[in-house]
Amino acid sequence: MATSIQSLVRIYLRPEDLTWGCPVCPNKGPQWETIHALRDHVVGQAMSMSLREDYKNKWSRHRRLARNMRWSLPGQH
Ligand SMILES: [Zn+2]
Repeated sequence: MATSIQSLVRIYLRPEDLTWGCPVCPNKGPQWETIHALRDHVVGQAMSMSLREDYKNKWSRHRRLARNMRWSLPGQH
């Protein structure tokens, strides 16, 4: 019943420049200066219908990340 650490997707704070990184999009795209900006990214990705169709895995990982962080998604059950 133990949950492995590896299965948990979490945001992280990059120590070199103190910006927030998205574990689903590592070393790619912008880094976020505040956790609020990162949350907007994660929730936006998780709610994207085009991502849902074309990048299902990435979409579902953003959704799991949002759930791990207890960020509510509009329309989530
Ligand atoms: Zn991302």
